[in-house]
Amino acid sequence: MLTIQQLKLPVSHTENELEKKIIKTLKIKKEELLSWSIRKQSLDARKKPDLFFVYTIDAEVKKESTVLKRVDHKIVMSTKRVPYTYLHTDNRDRLQRPVVVGSGPAGLFCAYYLARAGLSPLVIERGDDVDSRMKKVQSFWDGKALDTESNVQFGEGGAGTFSDGKLNTLVKDPAGRNLEVLRLFVECGAPDEILYVQKPHLGTDLLVTIVKNLRKKIEALGGEIRFRSALTGIHTEKGQLTGIEINHREQLSVSTLVLAVGHSARDTFSLLEKSGFSMQAKAFAVGLRIEHPQTLINQYQYGCREHETLGAAAYKLTHKAAGGRGVYSFCMCPGGYVVNASSEEGMLAVNGMSYQDRASKNANSAIIVTVTPDDYGNTGPLSGVEFQRGLERAAWRLGGGRIPLQLFGDFKENRKSTGLGQVTPCLKGDWSFANLRELLPAGISSALQEGITYFDRMIPGFSRDDAILTGVESRTSSPVRIERNAEMESSIRGVYPCGEGAGYAGGITSAAMDGLKIGEVIVKKVINFC
Ligand code: FAD
Repeated sequence: MLTIQQLKLPVSHTENELEKKIIKTLKIKKEELLSWSIRKQSLDARKKPDLFFVYTIDAEVKKESTVLKRVDHKIVMSTKRVPYTYLHTDNRDRLQRPVVVGSGPAGLFCAYYLARAGLSPLVIERGDDVDSRMKKVQSFWDGKALDTESNVQFGEGGAGTFSDGKLNTLVKDPAGRNLEVLRLFVECGAPDEILYVQKPHLGTDLLVTIVKNLRKKIEALGGEIRFRSALTGIHTEKGQLTGIEINHREQLSVSTLVLAVGHSARDTFSLLEKSGFSMQAKAFAVGLRIEHPQTLINQYQYGCREHETLGAAAYKLTHKAAGGRGVYSFCMCPGGYVVNASSEEGMLAVNGMSYQDRASKNANSAIIVTVTPDDYGNTGPLSGVEFQRGLERAAWRLGGGRIPLQLFGDFKENRKSTGLGQVTPCLKGDWSFANLRELLPAGISSALQEGITYFDRMIPGFSRDDAILTGVESRTSSPVRIERNAEMESSIRGVYPCGEGAGYAGGITSAAMDGLKIGEVIVKKVINFC
């Protein structure tokens, strides 16, 4: 296979124009080009409003060695793509049926791997199946009671089901897991373009279908998924897992358990601490969501207020504040919504989501600062969880149970907002005016103010007085790390911490990749026993 880099075309180009460019670059005739596919597409916006796509292309040609002799070797080279491989074992007796706790990306991808290997995993999920969950969440946003077991954080598909569905990750990937995760998403209903665009995204509406299709695949391969089934107890003997308790009543004999519980399973973290797991408090980040008109972001990125081909534009911003804290944008949702993402009574957390078309009139993003165990005012593995809870209780009180909202101009003046400006919120859930200064520690608020003001240098209008702030953004990543050794096992043998909740991933794709990785380790162990 030949790989061509740096093929540049205006964003409005046709497929035919791209093919012609490939043929020209390879100095071949049309009939010598057997097939081609896009490996990577990125946007070159340096000369806006003239925008270009830059491509890396894989091409199969007749007489590759002859073609290679006459092309520019700086941009064309011979390459191989090694496909990700699955292990299989017929010796399932060596291992009791493995149990996976949680059906987020980590749990689902791990279960898929185990099912493909022939190990018939059981997945237990505390929340509802994704269709029932969607209805529950919508009714919560409509003002009905929170279901603490099935909400934006809990239920089939995990935390990322209500999300923008951004799929990019910075995790290094010599094993090919990243591409395999994306390939499986495509098999389950995602568009092919997620395999090559620079910043792939799915959107909540599409994620629902994908999650259901992945569940069906796991079931077809012999796996089982039980909803409304929470892990409530862990039994051990001499440091080895012997069994689990489900929903405080059912006991199950288990020797292999994957803990893919996500970053919001606070009761489960307590259970693990009491059961003697080695865990530590870890750094994460907190802050507020900010909303701007999407046209403002498009203008900055594309040089025009709207772009038919490129859709709603994204941004990524960072700043080092005077006190030394890093301030940065996180989980940016172009054309998205801010959502009430709470999972505990009397506490309120926000996050962002979008649909596949990213068509809401606002861009939103978390603006956050890193907090470390030094900020938690307490010690112990769960001190970060208690810090989060303190902020979320304060957010709930400030908004009287609704999402507390303030304009940036009022945030600077330390006063409660009383009216909106030109920006009107795109929110899922009730909201009310508040003074968000009362929510966060003073050092964090001043770092956020400094950061937002600084970001105006990059995106003019970013610090406009009527930009909308909501809070609290507290579920950015796990406040806990559950230790695992080189064999990926926790301090309790037979238990494999996995994904974001365990502290080994941050985002949908990296959590899914960690799920595959744990699947590989478990299957290898079974094979090595044989
Ligand atoms: P989770 O997805 O959290 O899944 C854990 C699962 O375990 C849950 O379904 C939970 O119900 C279940 N569970 C917990 N405790 C128990 C128990 N005791 N018994 C049984 N089941 C249990 N990431 C991105 O990459 N891109 C985005 O655009 C993005 N947007 C987001 C938007 C929102 C609103 C939220 C909340 C998160 C977003 N994220 C995004 C983060 C992403 O969702 C997580 O990184 C990812 O889901 C982590 O995967 P996971 O499988 O490790 O955990």
